[in-house]
This record gives sequence, structure tokens and C-alpha cells, in this order.
Amino acid sequence: MVRIGFEIHVQLKTDSKLFCSCSTRFLDAEPNTNVCPVCTAQPGSKPEGINEEVLRKAVQVALALNCKIKTEPLRFLRKHYFYPDLPNNYQRTSEPFAVEGELNGVRIREIHIEEDPGRYELRDGTVDYNRAGVPLIEIVTEPDMHSVEEAREFLKHLRAVLDYLDVILYPQIGFRVDANVSIEGGERVEIKNINTIHGVVKALRYEISRHKRMLQMGKEIKRETRHWDEVRGVTVTLREKETAEDYRYMVDPDIPPYHIDPALIEELRAKMPELPFQKKERLMEQYGIDESTAWTLVLDKELGNLFEALAKSVGAKNAASFCTNLRGELNYRGIYLSEVPRRERLEKLAKLYFSGQITKPVYIEYMRKILDDPSFEPQAQEQLSDDEIREIARQIIEGNAAAVSDYKRGEKKAINYLVGQIVARTKGRADPKRAIQILREELERA
Ligand code: ZN
Ligand code: MN
Repeated sequence: MVRIGFEIHVQLKTDSKLFCSCSTRFLDAEPNTNVCPVCTAQPGSKPEGINEEVLRKAVQVALALNCKIKTEPLRFLRKHYFYPDLPNNYQRTSEPFAVEGELNGVRIREIHIEEDPGRYELRDGTVDYNRAGVPLIEIVTEPDMHSVEEAREFLKHLRAVLDYLDVILYPQIGFRVDANVSIEGGERVEIKNINTIHGVVKALRYEISRHKRMLQMGKEIKRETRHWDEVRGVTVTLREKETAEDYRYMVDPDIPPYHIDPALIEELRAKMPELPFQKKERLMEQYGIDESTAWTLVLDKELGNLFEALAKSVGAKNAASFCTNLRGELNYRGIYLSEVPRRERLEKLAKLYFSGQITKPVYIEYMRKILDDPSFEPQAQEQLSDDEIREIARQIIEGNAAAVSDYKRGEKKAINYLVGQIVARTKGRADPKRAIQILREELERA
């Protein structure tokens, strides 16, 4: 039996850092510009207290994950390790403020708050402390997933919940995952710092088959921490698993104990936005779509929004089919709809197609172009006149004697092949319905 559990780090979308008022923007700022004595641990500096905005976002997540939230005083601990990205030589990490949650059948063991370290560039030995002190929550699950598929589903649901709450600092980064995996007869192995859901899936597949091979060969699977090498597609040993003692945890005397006000919990519970599960139920009810389509739509927040916008202009059935096609194209590219620039082009495309101004092959081609080329603009296609279609139909009939005689012998399916030829020749500028009718007429004459 396979057991998979996760520790997931989410950088929270707040204006300022956890213990100082520096901006959290670390990606789109010059290195070491959003820093101060606190987040670079200068001698004599003291943390400014806990950023309230962090607590609000953290509690929102805990509520959405159906956790019990602790209201007793909680402490920040110092977790010691030594690396150039960590100016204090310890990371501040809170006691769990939320426990015993559940999402998609997976139990959430606990959630706690942490500060992110800076970014150390191994190649040239430089460090950027813009990220140091950015607030994180770490969500720890029980090892309740028993296959890579279940693990993937859980992460997709979690990502959707976080997107609906709008708590992720950089949606293009999303979250960082540490995956624990073990199989019957072997120790648990942790794979550190995987950046995408797709990466988690590949790393788990690799690791599970490695464990199976090891056991088949009569080898022992050691408890260890491994690194996922995205480029080579393998996991490699990082270190034998450290124990809690290695971190020399101690209470941070600079941060007074904090507690979460029950009134804040009730305020946030009352303000909770619609979550993916609720939206799925609503879409089924309101638009009469089936459950699996509804899940497809809601697990990508922007896709669900696009569906509802399109349902108004082109009808729910068309909108669902458009968004399902789009989901396939997005999956192929491994992206969320939010990563596509100028999304209004997709609404335009849907209107062009469902009002009959472009044909199906053009619609698919345009959808791909919109995803791949930010400057592409969908336009109504110049449609060929009946005379132009007729001329091409004649040429196709002449060039495909075999299909024509099949048709004449009563193999009506042969016409599909001939229409396909016309569509290809006209690059989709012939309306297939017109093309079939004209083709039939010409076949009668041929
Ligand atoms: Zn600072
Ligand atoms: Mn952590």
C-alpha cells in the first residue's frame, strides 16, 4: 500500500512582511530593496510584532480547510539551521494555530505560520533578502493519499481553495510542496521543495517505482530526504532525515505569545467567499450541468468565472463546451487560465464561434493561438462564397476518384472524407454545412 502526505508552504498575499513593514514583493523588485534591519537581522534590531493581516489570511485558510482553530496563546519558535539565505540563523515558526481539518477526504493535521528565508543563488554566491520575512503558512496533511491520482486531486482542490480565497502572493509560483511517501515494507522518504503539481506527480511516480524496485531487489529503503531534479526527472539523496533535535527548537523571546480572537474567527467565517465545492453545487443547480463538468469548471477559478460570463452571452451549454475545450488546451500546456494574458480574447472567440462567424477548425486554431501568442487577436474569418466552395468541391471530386466511387456505391461515409478535404484546402473558411450541401450537389452531377 502506498501512503502519501504533504507539507505545503504557501506565501501569503499581504502588503507587508510577517515581523516588519517591508513590502512582500520579492519577485518584481530589485534585489535587496525591500529590506530593513529586522528582516536582515541586523544587530540591535527587534521584530515589530505580528502582522495582523497574516493572521486574517491564515485563519481564512484554516476555516476553508474545516480546521479547528486554537484561541489559546501561541508561541513562535526558533528553528535553527545555517544557510546564507537565513540571516538570523534560525527561522521563526509558530506553534500550530489550526488542527484536525479536512479537504477532499484528506485529513489536515495542522497549519502553522512561518517566515520565508531569502534567496541564495548557488551559482554566484549572492543572496537576495527581499523574500526574507515574507509570511508563509505551512499546511500539513495526514498520509491519507494512496495513489498519485489521489495526491494530484488533493493538490488541485487545495490550489482552487487558495485561489478562491485570493491568499496566494504570486499565483505563478503557487505553493511549494514537500511530499512524504512510503510503500508497505519500506521507510518514509521525504521529497523536498517541488514547485508545481505536475512536478509532484512526476516525482511521486518516480519515487514509488524506485521503492518497488528496491524492495524487489531485497534492498532496504532508508528514511531520508531527497531532492526532485526536474531536469533529469529523478530524485536524489539530499540528506539522511534530520531529527527535531537537530533544529534546537526554542521559544523566541522576541515575539510575545499571540492568540487568535474568537470574534475574528466569527467575522471571517461570516465573510467567507464561495468555495469550489459550493460553486460546483451551484453551477449544477443553476445551469443544469453534470458534476464532472462542474468540477472541471470550478477547479480553475478563472475558468469558472469565464463560464459564467459566457453562459450569459452564448448560453450555458455552449459555454460549458467552450470551457471544456479550453481546459484541455490549458492542461496540455500545464497552466491555469489566470496565466493567460488578455483573457477577453477568449470571450470574443466564443462569440465569434457560437454566432457562426468562424468554423470549428478555425475556432480550435484560434484558441491555441490565443494561449500561445499574447499579441494574437481573433477576427471573424472572411467566409468563402458558395461559388468559391463549388469550385473547390469540383477540384476535390476530380482529385479523389476512389472516394467518389465509394460514395456512388452507397458508402455515404465517404462524403466525410471529401468534406474534410474541402475544410483543409480552405483552411476552415468554408462553412462545413454549406460545403456538404454543395458537395452533394456536385457529386450528383459527377
Ligand atoms: Zn524588513
Ligand atoms: Mn516549513
